[in-house]
Amino acid sequence: MTDDTFRISCPNCARIPGLCLCSLLIPFEIEVRMALLVHPREYSKTTGTARIVAKSIRNCAIIRGYGQDFDRDSRFRTMVQDPTLRWVVLYPGSDSLNLTEASDKCLLQAFPQDGKKLGILLIDGTWSSAKRMIRTSVLLSSLPKISFSVNFLSQFRFKKQPRPNCLSTVEATTHLIESLALRGLCSVDPPGAHWKMLHVFDALVETQLKFMQRPRA
Ligand SMILES: [Zn+2]
Repeated sequence: MTDDTFRISCPNCARIPGLCLCSLLIPFEIEVRMALLVHPREYSKTTGTARIVAKSIRNCAIIRGYGQDFDRDSRFRTMVQDPTLRWVVLYPGSDSLNLTEASDKCLLQAFPQDGKKLGILLIDGTWSSAKRMIRTSVLLSSLPKISFSVNFLSQFRFKKQPRPNCLSTVEATTHLIESLALRGLCSVDPPGAHWKMLHVFDALVETQLKFMQRPRA
């Protein structure tokens, strides 16, 4: 592949011609606020799945940074400290509220019906990179954490995941939205549209595998 090939990558999905996924992307909206925190190193990767999320969910913000960058970012601080919003971070752990298993009472305690809109921060990366990202930011580590039960395997077949229940960003986002919707915490417009992100992801995996297995000159 030449440098020229990279220069003519699709400006929307950043994939090279022949691997462009734009025709599969079906934008939709969710009722909650959502922001994707992307490590600067991950941002330009064309095989990352954060881009599928960003191009599918119309009202999802993308914020580049790492750890203390967020503490220093006045726009981020204003967003997270907005009194009309209740921000949580998706991160599995002993102190996170498991949306799949929590009782209705626990859920109501965590998300009282006080008019505040739910805001969810998603970290682009593995659970361990999310852990590092949260640990290094005072602001992020002060927020409540949520999770959901993972009873399926990641289909991110061209990436080695450290554990079978590690998910790509697009898989985590899709299943998070489903978990929220099942507990009445989020609606999707049009309903069920979040699952379409996984079709785009399947196509990404298939085209990437073919690309990696192509005969080399
Ligand atoms: Zn494209």
